[in-house]
Amino acid sequence: MSDGKVIRLPYLHDHHSHVSLYAALEGCPSLESLDGAGAFSLLKSLPRDRLSLVTGWHTDRLCLGAGDLKDLPPAIVINSSLHGFAITPSGKPLAAALWPELGERADDPVWAESNIGKTFAFYVRVAGLDAPKLEAFMSKMAALGICSLDDMTIAGEEAAKLVSTPPFSDRIVPWATPEIYKELSPESKSRCVGIKIYLDGSLGSRSASIDAPFLDGSAGSLLYSDDGLKRLIAEIAGFGLGMSAHALGHRCTEQVLRCLEELARDGLRLPSVRLEHLQFIDLGQARRCKAAGFVLSMQPNFNADSAAFADRLIPRHLAENDPFRMLIDQAGFVPGEDLVFGSDGMPHDPGFALRWSLFPAYEGQRLSLEEFAAGYEPRTGRAKALEGEGSAFALDLAGRDLRRVDRQGKR
Ligand SMILES: [Zn+2]
Repeated sequence: MSDGKVIRLPYLHDHHSHVSLYAALEGCPSLESLDGAGAFSLLKSLPRDRLSLVTGWHTDRLCLGAGDLKDLPPAIVINSSLHGFAITPSGKPLAAALWPELGERADDPVWAESNIGKTFAFYVRVAGLDAPKLEAFMSKMAALGICSLDDMTIAGEEAAKLVSTPPFSDRIVPWATPEIYKELSPESKSRCVGIKIYLDGSLGSRSASIDAPFLDGSAGSLLYSDDGLKRLIAEIAGFGLGMSAHALGHRCTEQVLRCLEELARDGLRLPSVRLEHLQFIDLGQARRCKAAGFVLSMQPNFNADSAAFADRLIPRHLAENDPFRMLIDQAGFVPGEDLVFGSDGMPHDPGFALRWSLFPAYEGQRLSLEEFAAGYEPRTGRAKALEGEGSAFALDLAGRDLRRVDRQGKR
């Protein structure tokens, strides 16, 4: 796999992305590479006669308060974490015409977190999704060395049908939130591998349920009471599918473990459990997950949060983020078996994740090249690998930077 200073990887399976959403949002205006002045001039230049979706909003780079949004054209500016958004006053009536509840509750962050699956479906409805858009997205993934992906939140019946059609059907693995799942046709339901639920928010929108407040004093919250969560898990058990639970912060990691353990004592077991987007977990919790046979689905690219989010996380949290060494060396998780890796599309490029795995901000986050590749390996029968080599990267002389090598071997 390693050839001198060139690292070669096979085609990888991204175990956590939002394929239908990202494909629909391709081509939407993005703030990704703009500074504050550039972002505002882009927002001001949007059309005034229709609702625009804008991507790539990083709250550590750009503040969008009520005063900033006041006179802007109709737009929803989506947080780069996909959790949370800002909507301009002129955008509210247009959004409400399509989804009345959104018009009324747009400024309520807890409502937004609790309705994230429906919100993704709304974005896809506004931006539109068709086969050429999905094909373009999958080609972009292939160029990055990714052959197949889990779509953690399929955006409704049309998206479910599309991803179930060749050539996508053996390269996209659909999951659905309970509310979307219930609205799918029997055929689309049968294509879903599991049910995705969200138990807290993100660091990007300061809504993750970490165990101490963010530096600005704000605190994320649990989206369910224990009773509410147990009822939801029991409903999912009735679907006969496995469950994937987005549990980012310490408090919801503990909550989902507690609820699953209590339900197991009452005799309720799900076919499979994945804890998704996990970033804060201690050794005791990790051992409980291991004993219960849960899969941890994590994103090595979020090692970078320990640098990017020094503006909002206390030093202990920066150090606790993504404790891969503890999970592998002490709790016994095995990459590719019960520890799987994906990107959440932030960004999709495995080169970014690999750099933060080989050269992390904290030793506890380090992954070897072999562990990284194993965690990203396609799992049997669910996603088909493309033929040949996926991607190659050259290490620079300081060993700190990975640059993509093209298929002919040139940098
Ligand atoms: Zn996600």
